[in-house]
Amino acid sequence: MLETVPLTLLAANMLFLLTAALVWAGLSQVLVIGQRTVLLLALANALLAASLGCNALRGIAWDGLSYWGANMMAISSFALLRQSIPTAIGAAPSWWPTLALLAVAGLLLAPMPPDSDWMPVINFSCLSLLMGFTSFETWRHLRRRLKLALALGLCSPLILVTALLLLRLALLLQGSGARIRDASVGNVAWLWAVLLMGLVLNATLAFMVLMRLILRIRRLTERDALTDALNRRAFGALLSREQAQLARGQGHALVMLDVDHFKRINDTLGHAAGDAALKHLVQQLQGCLREADRLGRLGGEEFGVLLPLSDQAGALLAAERMRATLQAHPLLWQGQPWPMTASFGVAVAQAPHDDADALMQRADAALYRAKEAGRNRVEAD
Ligand code: GH3
Ligand code: MG
Ligand code: MG
Repeated sequence: MLETVPLTLLAANMLFLLTAALVWAGLSQVLVIGQRTVLLLALANALLAASLGCNALRGIAWDGLSYWGANMMAISSFALLRQSIPTAIGAAPSWWPTLALLAVAGLLLAPMPPDSDWMPVINFSCLSLLMGFTSFETWRHLRRRLKLALALGLCSPLILVTALLLLRLALLLQGSGARIRDASVGNVAWLWAVLLMGLVLNATLAFMVLMRLILRIRRLTERDALTDALNRRAFGALLSREQAQLARGQGHALVMLDVDHFKRINDTLGHAAGDAALKHLVQQLQGCLREADRLGRLGGEEFGVLLPLSDQAGALLAAERMRATLQAHPLLWQGQPWPMTASFGVAVAQAPHDDADALMQRADAALYRAKEAGRNRVEAD
């Protein structure tokens, strides 16, 4: 009875890995971002399944395939994981260390006889090294971007897999390695561990890919496609949230600005120049703002700047800085400078009952006055 357990587990492992490979390959056809990552993951799963299959054929099939081939497939599979896991979270690991490790492993394993005790030791050393590096790089990248608990939660499956590989390596060094078809308790436990590793790694990766996709979609829904400033909806939501903070005594200001005679740029230089002018404007304005300040495109060539923790004097200073910067940096179109100025209206949030719309109306009224008074100037509410 126990004889069939390793074979059943082996079949379950291969079936799972091949299914995961198919799902990742299918996803690569429909995803708009991360196709390469997902394709690498499909390949990594397929290679691991093939490695297990070849390993199981030891003593039956050609030794070159069942020993050397199986080990190299496993190492290649983990090499692909090392390249794809950090990519799934937006990091870009260099291929060179991975390729160098693959080359060294290939050179070390090639001359070894199939029954050498060193072959599995080298194999698991490479697997542990690759997984250890992956865990470390993933941790380093996520720690900078996420809260400690989430970064730790996402990295712990990778650390668990590294620990399992190191445990296997330690057992091999003690001389207790077993063939993958053996019905020993140790081998059955190892096959369960492999199944667990496959599940944990694929689930973690699916979560990472999904998280990245959600973040990308969120960015797409919040940003203006041309200038990458916040769009009107996201800016309005931010303003309302800031307004809610007013009750806690944190005042903020809103600056609204509109490019002067923008139509002339379109009419004289063409629509493409108008688009370039809007991008230029956003770039210049971003350079004037603090990290907490938020810039949004409210429509056409009209923008809003939310200045948290600001009073009227501070907001006037910020608006004047933006106005002067724009005036000092004309649009460069086909090598020619094109002067570009804007008019600014400033309003400060007053009381909790003063909602976001009312604040916008007051800033807009001040902006209108700036236009009326001759443009290229700042007016306060
Ligand atoms: P004023 O000083 O009174 O603000 O004059 P203006 O010419 O800037 O104002 P007006 O509202 O007449 O013109 C705004 C123009 O902005 C009209 C519209 O075609 C153009 N526009 C709006 N959105 C875009 C865009 O995304 N790209 C380009 N190139 N033009 C845009
Ligand atoms: Mg205008
Ligand atoms: Mg306008």
